[in-house]
Amino acid sequence: MNIHEYQAKQLLAEYGVTVLKGKVAYTATEAESAARELGGPVWVVKAQIHAGGRGKGGGVKLAKSVEEVKQLAKDMLGMTLVTHQTGPAGRVVKRVYIEDGCRIARELYLSAVVDRATSRVVIMASTEGGVEIEEVAEHSPEKILKVAIDPATGFQPFHGRQIAFGLGLKGKEVSKAVAFMRGIYDCMVQKDASQVEINPLVVTEGGDLVALDAKMNFDSNALYRQAKVVELRDLDEEDPQEIEASKHELNYIKLDGNIACMVNGAGLAMATMDIIKLFGGEPANFLDVGGGATKERVTAAFKLLLSDPNVEGVLVNIFGGIMRCDVIAEGVVAAAREVNLTVPLVVRLEGTNVELGKKILAESGLPITPADDLADAAQKIVNAVRSTH
Ligand code: ADP
Ligand code: MG
Repeated sequence: MNIHEYQAKQLLAEYGVTVLKGKVAYTATEAESAARELGGPVWVVKAQIHAGGRGKGGGVKLAKSVEEVKQLAKDMLGMTLVTHQTGPAGRVVKRVYIEDGCRIARELYLSAVVDRATSRVVIMASTEGGVEIEEVAEHSPEKILKVAIDPATGFQPFHGRQIAFGLGLKGKEVSKAVAFMRGIYDCMVQKDASQVEINPLVVTEGGDLVALDAKMNFDSNALYRQAKVVELRDLDEEDPQEIEASKHELNYIKLDGNIACMVNGAGLAMATMDIIKLFGGEPANFLDVGGGATKERVTAAFKLLLSDPNVEGVLVNIFGGIMRCDVIAEGVVAAAREVNLTVPLVVRLEGTNVELGKKILAESGLPITPADDLADAAQKIVNAVRSTH
């Protein structure tokens, strides 16, 4: 789960991370009074969307008067902001953050991520702030500093000093940087974040270290114990199909292809996607309906798949172990009737009550193509979709 920049800054500030004063606004009038309260003389108006690259896309603007803040907020609210992270469709801006302006001496990069390879939180830093870290990693990987934190000891001052010296910080900046990193580490661990990214972390002309941007991601498996974090969720920023899926306890991730897949078990879902690609198709989604799905859940899953306008064919590949094939078949038939299916549907069932399942499909009168094995199923759906072109 992601949160907005201003929310991340509020959380991090509780851990002693220095941020500038700022206020969120939903309307131009709110932006105007926020600017007045902050006092100026320089403000920055920042679009709040769950994507980076806002600066280049016109979502971060400097203002030198209250009137200018109001005008910029008016222009930004409701606009569709396109950045390299939003994709071509962009995101509609519904909130803006009005923040004090800052005189920047240096822009640095600082983040903390959970590194799967070492099973530790790794702090990463670079002198190349304000730039996409992926670009730095590609063109000058030697400029990325990394320090892994042993969970048994937690963050230690030497971890921080190692990074601070690597960034070329001097004198009091070093101790400020150590405290800054401790704050980030503690916040990350206590809030079950999977990533905290400060890009840029700036050294101001006055020698302070300030988080000028902040991005936080949270481990959704830990949200049950992070009630305060859950309150920060903004459903407007999430994919409506993924929200619908989570209501029905379906593991659904939308992809860019045109062949929808309904599968039980994550491993089988991966194998199904692989084999679709092997035969030259592109999966439209990852969908795991789980082991104990009911007819209602299968129906919900089916509707969800078809609500994606890119879908030109559906492949159902279910192994009936815990789940019975006849239940799946009933769900598929019910859903296909309800949504008035217009795209080809290939179904491969295997396992408990498979004969009964196949019978239900065959007697439904619906144009369902049965398949005998995985390769057969994948080939059939790829060919069926191709022939509609
Ligand atoms: P994004 O990463 O989405 O483009 P940032 O918050 O990093 O958005 O802002 C982009 C750039 O705008 C920063 O690299 C910084 O140079 C400038 N900037 C952002 N906030 C402020 C601020 N409060 N004062 C001065 N400059 C700022
Ligand atoms: Mg940034």
